[in-house]
Amino acid sequence: MFRYREMLQSHFEELSALVTREHGKTITEARAEVQRGIELVEFACGIPSLIMGQCLENIATNVDAETSRHPVGVCAGIVPFNFPFMVPLWMFPIAITCGNTFVLKPSEKVPLSSNRLGELLIEAGLPTGVLNIVHGDKPCVDRLLTHPLVRAISFVGSSGVAKHVYETGTAHGKRVQAAGGAKNHLIIMPDADLDLSVTAVQASAFGCAGERCMAGSVAVPVGRIADDVVEGLVKAGSSMRVGPTDEGADVDMGPLVSRQHRDRVASYLDVARSEGAEVALDGRKAVISGDGFLLGPSVVDRVAPTMRLAKEEVFGPVLSVVRADDLDHALLIGRSCEYGNGASIFTRSGYAARQFRRHFGAGMIGINVGVPAPMAWFSFTGWNRSFFGDLHIQGVEGIQFYTQQKTCMTRWFESPSDSADDPIWKTTRGGA
Ligand code: NAD
Repeated sequence: MFRYREMLQSHFEELSALVTREHGKTITEARAEVQRGIELVEFACGIPSLIMGQCLENIATNVDAETSRHPVGVCAGIVPFNFPFMVPLWMFPIAITCGNTFVLKPSEKVPLSSNRLGELLIEAGLPTGVLNIVHGDKPCVDRLLTHPLVRAISFVGSSGVAKHVYETGTAHGKRVQAAGGAKNHLIIMPDADLDLSVTAVQASAFGCAGERCMAGSVAVPVGRIADDVVEGLVKAGSSMRVGPTDEGADVDMGPLVSRQHRDRVASYLDVARSEGAEVALDGRKAVISGDGFLLGPSVVDRVAPTMRLAKEEVFGPVLSVVRADDLDHALLIGRSCEYGNGASIFTRSGYAARQFRRHFGAGMIGINVGVPAPMAWFSFTGWNRSFFGDLHIQGVEGIQFYTQQKTCMTRWFESPSDSADDPIWKTTRGGA
């Protein structure tokens, strides 16, 4: 893994360009993804201390107890299209350093980064058969979910598929961790720094063209700040340069992953209008140069929590604005959502931040941070329909997921040979 880490670092630009080529995100976003991915390999390099067991001496007279962690066997990972480099690295470096073999099933939309990750790991010296990559879609996933040799399944993707993976995998006796979709709320309190908040919300909602499970997709301005927030977001969104990202082109936002996905995302603007919301910025009208599945940033104001735009995951650059009267109202809006991945608050008030941290029903919380995605050594702790399972992906729970524990009790007693005449015993005693 140390060697692998060095190789990934030395291929940094090549790998970033590959992510941009197959996914379409900007080269800056791709570099950030590759950096996060390398940190996951660094985390796995710390496995000797992470995998340690526990010991308690003399739990009864001359009896010691200890636990040790052991591999579970063949593990499988099924990953989405939006982070083709990073999400596979949430899984196989930890699984392999815990002593397992791994079968990776990349997204059929972005297979290239996974292939390159595998090639480099083999070049770094991984024995044949430890990491296996199979390409395909539903039939391939279903075979893994039911295969008798597969002991553990890690999944990241949309909630419907996550639920299917969890139910099918566990019904076949496997441990499953399945991370699903999201609808992340960003609350802007009246005392927040307006410029900082608008910039953070803009980056959260429109970064990676909104194709992030931690993207802010519902802004919740509280009280008097709402008009300024909407005005600021419309201005910020309109100034973004949208275009193809080939050859590291200098744009702020690239294309969506497919024509079908782009059209689905854009169709939410008509849905919003028909439900009575106000489209303050329409990404379909953005000035875009070049070809591709491109769509400009959209801001939809006066969305009600009951509307489809507030409830469904759009997974594109469409930001809803649900206005709230006060913090309690904002918390209620968050609670009406069935997902529970991330949420952030922007405020100068410690009390408001604490109330939010304690009472918002999401697993990853940001305070004056637009994308509170945990780094490698923390787990990715989604709640509600954003996660199916018990032990989350990456971090310490990742180690627990890819290992099973053994508890051993040992009774020690003096044998007849532990006598003064035994030469070894004599030496030990003498030494002591
Ligand atoms: P997806 O659910 O369509 O696909 C994910 C994986 O499942 C792919 O490998 C795909 O081949 C496979 N798959 C698709 N349909 C299947 C089916 N019916 N049966 C079995 N397997 C199937 O997701 P996507 O469009 O690739 O990725 C976007 C989704 O992933 C979004 O919902 C996003 O929020 C989510 N996501 C979540 C996290 C998280 O940590 N919670 C992280 C990244 C992405």
